[in-house]
Amino acid sequence: MTKLLWEPPFIQPHRLGEINKFGRMKARDNYVEHVFGVPVALLKEEFGSPCFVTSEIHFRNNLRNLKKAFERRYGDVIHGWSYKTNYISAMCNIAHQEGCYAEVVSAFEYEKARKLGVPGKKIIFNGPNKGKDILERAINDGAHIHLDHLDELNLVSKIASRLNKIVEVSLRLNFDTGFTEPWSRFGFNIESGQARQATRLLAASKNLKLSGLHSHIGTFILEPKAYIQQVRIMCKFMREIEASHDIEIDTIDIGGGLPSKNALQSIYLPPEQVIPPLSEYADAICNTLIEETNYRNQLKRKKPTLIFESGRAAVDDTQALIVSVVGNKRLPDGKRAAILDAGTNLLFTAYWYNHQVQMTRPADGPLADTALYGPLCMNIDVVRSSIQLPPLEYGDTLVINPVGAYNNTQWMQFIEYRPNVVLVHEDNTYSVIREREDLEVMCQQDRLPEHLKIAFSTTEAKK
Ligand SMILES: *Cc1c(COP(=O)(O)O)cnc(C)c1O
Repeated sequence: MTKLLWEPPFIQPHRLGEINKFGRMKARDNYVEHVFGVPVALLKEEFGSPCFVTSEIHFRNNLRNLKKAFERRYGDVIHGWSYKTNYISAMCNIAHQEGCYAEVVSAFEYEKARKLGVPGKKIIFNGPNKGKDILERAINDGAHIHLDHLDELNLVSKIASRLNKIVEVSLRLNFDTGFTEPWSRFGFNIESGQARQATRLLAASKNLKLSGLHSHIGTFILEPKAYIQQVRIMCKFMREIEASHDIEIDTIDIGGGLPSKNALQSIYLPPEQVIPPLSEYADAICNTLIEETNYRNQLKRKKPTLIFESGRAAVDDTQALIVSVVGNKRLPDGKRAAILDAGTNLLFTAYWYNHQVQMTRPADGPLADTALYGPLCMNIDVVRSSIQLPPLEYGDTLVINPVGAYNNTQWMQFIEYRPNVVLVHEDNTYSVIREREDLEVMCQQDRLPEHLKIAFSTTEAKK
């Protein structure tokens, strides 16, 4: 007779609210069979699991709504698509087709934008690490260079003088709005006088011409008033430097930072209740900018062009991740846990967000507190540390969303291959816009020195 395995007993509290007023499990109704109009089962069968699914129409609509919100209120507006938020080529080209410039922060992103056919004059070049060669290329292309620090200012000046060119540049500024933690490591600080010092250098430079001001005050900013302060501080700075130097500012770039409808881990209420509508941000930014640039009418100076660089607000809710349950566990404390075929290797944002996770079939049993783990052999690979879910079965398909911002760029080639990314086109047909990796992709940059070409000698291999 085999001995039965002893399992420690556990008590599970019966939670009020698990059953709705019709006596049915809430989760029974809370499942999805489609993402962006396409059956989940079909996508999983055709493209495997895990698999990212993105909606073209959603992305285009978001981009149009953002642009309209600012244009209606201010007029002269440019949206710089933040490449690092999602730089899959098809996504960038959707943004460019909608009129966005490329907002890039590295040599790689700059080269990618050029390769996609974006002309230099429609590239905004941000970031603290712009190398000599890429700066020279950007200068020759006529890109908008946003200076981050003094060494960069000197470098650009040197290249410009060698090329015998006058280069228009923007200054990235940082300052305290009183609403967000100042990102003081980027750009030139206003309060300390650094920004004024850089302005003096530029005003005296033969090869550089200051024509724009930029700042990016943070990300997922829940307080529209932060932007009022930002625009005020930037405009005050603009007015001061225009009064004391022979400088005319053409562009005010307020960066990104608008929130998406995702659930931050630090916030208890659902995103619909926490996140102010786009109109409040647009009002805050545009009304302040109109007010603060009125003085230019008397000077017969043009109003500056408003540039914004929204990333997550444009793309987050345009993408879902299809995953599968590859195992179930009962943790020692009695809590349910499931292992998924995708974790923080594909969902970097799981560190910040409580992503919504939906079943794709009706529930079969009561909801219980469940932990969702990824496939990595690392304790921190947690998709959700605690979520109410019905019992999961091996092979169950789940849909996680929204996941469109920062995951297709911050995903890791760690332990697992990166999966297919599918785009649902406007006519509801779909195609792969980034192919899943395979062994060849994983090894293609490896080089084996002659003496390491074999793992075992032939005699050893036989043992
Ligand atoms: C990352 C970044 C953005 C986009 O930020 P979101 O918060 O996603 O809107 C815009 N501008 C700069 C300079 C950035 O670094």
